[in-house]
Amino acid sequence: MKKYVAEPFRIKMVETIKMTSKAERKKKLEKAFYNVFNLRGEDVYIDLLTDSGTNAMSADQWAGIMHGDEAYAGARSYYHLIDAGKDIFGYEFIQPVHQGRAAEKVVFPLILGKGKIAISNMFFDTTRAHVELAGARAVDCVVEEAKHPQVQSPFKGNMDVKKLEEKINEYGKENVGLIVMTITNNSAGGQPVSIENMRQVAAIAKKYGIPLDIDAARYAENAYFIKQREEEFKKSSIKAIIKEMFSYADMFTMSAKKDAIVNMGGLIGIKRDAELYQKIKGNCISYEGFITYGGLSGRDLEALAIGLYEGLEEDYLKYRIGQMEYLAGLLDDAKIAYQSPVGGHGVFIDAKALLPHIPYHQFPGQALALELYLEAGIRACDIGSYMLGNDPDTGKQLQADFEFTRLAIPRRVYTQSHLDIIAEALITIKKHADKVPGYKITWEPPVLRHFQAHLEPMK
Ligand SMILES: *Cc1c(COP(=O)(O)O)cnc(C)c1O
Repeated sequence: MKKYVAEPFRIKMVETIKMTSKAERKKKLEKAFYNVFNLRGEDVYIDLLTDSGTNAMSADQWAGIMHGDEAYAGARSYYHLIDAGKDIFGYEFIQPVHQGRAAEKVVFPLILGKGKIAISNMFFDTTRAHVELAGARAVDCVVEEAKHPQVQSPFKGNMDVKKLEEKINEYGKENVGLIVMTITNNSAGGQPVSIENMRQVAAIAKKYGIPLDIDAARYAENAYFIKQREEEFKKSSIKAIIKEMFSYADMFTMSAKKDAIVNMGGLIGIKRDAELYQKIKGNCISYEGFITYGGLSGRDLEALAIGLYEGLEEDYLKYRIGQMEYLAGLLDDAKIAYQSPVGGHGVFIDAKALLPHIPYHQFPGQALALELYLEAGIRACDIGSYMLGNDPDTGKQLQADFEFTRLAIPRRVYTQSHLDIIAEALITIKKHADKVPGYKITWEPPVLRHFQAHLEPMK
């Protein structure tokens, strides 16, 4: 059994959560059209829907909230944030926005358009959507080992650089508008990307004159993995690894709701292209608000400036990744398969392996998420064919490379006993796995359908 890494903090404020009965949960699922996004938060016992914006802020961050400067233009809190951003990432221009997809909405239409292709190690759902909303098409080039949950490899989030170059030649370099490196690779299971891979991708981007963007939501967790697994960086500080990583890109788009340990926020970073930054400011004013608040309150900017640094602390990261490793260890003992080695922000259960009788078009990842709620009031989500959706050109259901149920772990929120309960629920489900039904969609919207679709169990 993997030893639990004790919390490098103590608890100062608590929030009551309540348990419901199985009969109640059955009704609530029906009322939610079997879509976990339609459940009320207070009907959930352990909420693993996402690690996004669900973080517990520190006493320092809450103090920062009180110090927030709410000036419309030129607020003190804005300058605190810009200083932190420049210091950590080494970029010339930092622009706050209200969350990650706002960064994508502001930046992508300036770079992509009809007929363009964007290539990533793996696009996250909203990122893919904003590529498509900009009129372009999104192509994934993740390394093959990412698609095999049992294959052990230190950097399963990496870009397949050979495939990347083939795709650039296939589409023509003038048609490839952007390369996006998602670190860690969320959809592949929070899997890290190595500096070596980043260097190779940057060299290809340079060779073909294509800008390189980092989708940076979990950059600190990624840096921790690099320190653990990449020989060259064994003795480097987390901060030094981050500087190195970002030095290879031209820009980043970031959801700060993850590694920056806040409840709301996002950032755009531009290494040195002043002309692009000028256009970004224009879009930001139209969509988000004035440049110096970018859709956030002054207090949010202040909490974010503090959270950026807290997210880099090595003791914190050791505890954070330790939580995933502890939960994964419990699943190893129970022979429940997951994307392994475990990633940075959650455990991605291999639903295809646990529910082999459910085909991809009946959504095994979604089926397991619903069963977890029914069994123990735990809310998780599908990262598989249900999330991937339909081909934007043909409207046909796409088949994902894997069918995961993601147990995303909020930062600094749940304890060792909560993790024990999660493992116990999965062990119980494993015993009656063959009785878990597949699902069909009865209604869906055209974009990002998984958030809103209605489903029903197969008879
Ligand atoms: C969360 C996330 C986004 C989108 O960010 P939001 O803050 O949810 O809008 C984009 N990319 C990745 C990799 C993410 O994890």
